[in-house]
Amino acid sequence: MDYGKLGLKVGLEVHQELATEHKLFCQCPPELFRDEPEYTFLRRLRPSQSELGEVDPAALFEFMKGRTMVYEANRATSCLVEMDEEPPGELNPEALDVCFTIALMTGGRPVDEVHVMRKIVVDGSNTTGFQRTCVTSLGGSVEVGDRSYGLTQICLEEDAARKIAEEGVVSRYRIDRLGIPLIEVTTAPDIHSPEEAEEVALAIGQILRATGKVRRGLGTIRQDVNVSIEGGALIEIKGVQELALVSKVVEYEVQRQTALLEIASELKKRKVSESDIGKELVDASEVFRETKSRIIMNALREGGSVHALKLKGFGGLVGMELCPNRRLGTEMADYAKFWGGVKGIFHTDELPAYDISEGEVKKLKAKVGASKSDAVVIVADEAEKCGRALMAVADRAREALIGVPQDTRAADPDGTTHFTRPRPGAARMYPETDVVSIVVTPERIESLKANLPEMPEEKLERFKADYGINEKLARQVIDSDHTHLFEELAREGEVDPTLLSVTLTETLKMLEREGMETGKLSDDALRGVFSLVGSGRTAKESIPEVLTWLGSNLEGTPEEALAELGLAMLTQDELRSLVEAKVAEKRELVERMGARAVGPLMGVIMAELRGRAEAREVQALLRELLGAQIED
Ligand SMILES: [Zn+2]
Repeated sequence: MDYGKLGLKVGLEVHQELATEHKLFCQCPPELFRDEPEYTFLRRLRPSQSELGEVDPAALFEFMKGRTMVYEANRATSCLVEMDEEPPGELNPEALDVCFTIALMTGGRPVDEVHVMRKIVVDGSNTTGFQRTCVTSLGGSVEVGDRSYGLTQICLEEDAARKIAEEGVVSRYRIDRLGIPLIEVTTAPDIHSPEEAEEVALAIGQILRATGKVRRGLGTIRQDVNVSIEGGALIEIKGVQELALVSKVVEYEVQRQTALLEIASELKKRKVSESDIGKELVDASEVFRETKSRIIMNALREGGSVHALKLKGFGGLVGMELCPNRRLGTEMADYAKFWGGVKGIFHTDELPAYDISEGEVKKLKAKVGASKSDAVVIVADEAEKCGRALMAVADRAREALIGVPQDTRAADPDGTTHFTRPRPGAARMYPETDVVSIVVTPERIESLKANLPEMPEEKLERFKADYGINEKLARQVIDSDHTHLFEELAREGEVDPTLLSVTLTETLKMLEREGMETGKLSDDALRGVFSLVGSGRTAKESIPEVLTWLGSNLEGTPEEALAELGLAMLTQDELRSLVEAKVAEKRELVERMGARAVGPLMGVIMAELRGRAEAREVQALLRELLGAQIED
């Protein structure tokens, strides 16, 4: 792909939760709870007219679907503010200072006055129906190598409730996350390749972490990525949780838009026009009376039907790959699911398959009068749902004539994206009258300026010089969530800085790959593990095992891990009796080889000890015991 030629423009919105003393508008701690909720409450979304007299179409649509929200809560992590039973308190000054600090680190201009606004949110993730947000600075830039990328603004927001489950029309949320301070750093669309997007996201993340005031673990940093190419559309991709996915998301989105533009030009060549699409739906149930397809069989048995839509001139295009795992058919299925509430669609480009026979496909095409150059889409469900789903498919087909529809998408773990909702108009915002605006004094900014955290590049040089770790490890530590812990422990000097840095980066990454959620390990747990090694109570080789045990026993202590795993260093007495027992067991070998038996015995004993004793101690003991034996 020649990204320059394609006119690729990428902008990022990096969202990072802050680890302040308390939440943004109340005194609750910014923490999540793991156990069962202490109470739940239920809300329904009711669309109301805005001051301008218009009803938000997205809100209305959710209302029509009968969307109900169940909120789960516990008293330790939420209060009446999150329940929207009490007005918000004053804006957390600590969170605001973090935003100003980041603005100053990136050359931005803090605002003179902070005004909290309400941004309409209709998915139920906010109990109020809006999200509170405020602009804290404008401008600034981040540097990557010798390139500079503009920032447009830095905002401070309240994080939304987190979705636990979606059961039919019921959405289940936990309000522990609601109100956690969330900083949003927005870049200008200055980025022109997938790799650059990832580098910029990384650079912003490093600056955020340099403040030492950010939460860590999966989900605490989320990137929204805005991608456009010449002739395509500006697509907003929400919720990229992993940095390593940013470049892939951009790459796949460019592929998707490029392929959609190809499809549009092919449809033009085939002279397909809007009026060719979505004239009528055909009830094709009788074609499938004898079907072996379980999905269709079940739908018909439950009184549903199979409805079909002919897409004139779309033959071969519905099944065309846009990017890995995505076809025009997948995009149509997204629409059908969203607007029709059905489970999916079938289309003739992928048939016969899924136990739908060649004969059935022939009959289906005949039924709707489709020729070889046409495609047919079918849905099996309640007739009314089939209708809504296929009308949505027809809408998507009409959009294919133009190219790339303007929708909001969400990232999947493989880097592809799916449709989540039509792109809303400009964000609807109005002033939050319950929170007083804050005048930002020059003194406040001056005092923050005088105490700015070190920039990541300076820190890198200092780590190399002060702790003698190499460039690669220093970089990894700075990119990790444990920079501050590393420095604290390296300063104490009990544990070798290289061991600290390897453990806090490579070892944790390895454990993460093995399925452990290392973000759940507390700093105290990590400190405890290093202290065991530093004080000689266990060998450094035991660290991965101890961490793994702690990962699945979050309430446990590193000492308990040692005891449970039998990894504590042996005392002198324990070691002596173990070595004596081994020598007695291998009596024959000792008699035959004499002093030369030390080597083979060392191997056997060290393997059994798995790091619970120093090799030189074992060797000294063996020499002593064998010496005595030989003299006998
Ligand atoms: Zn609260």
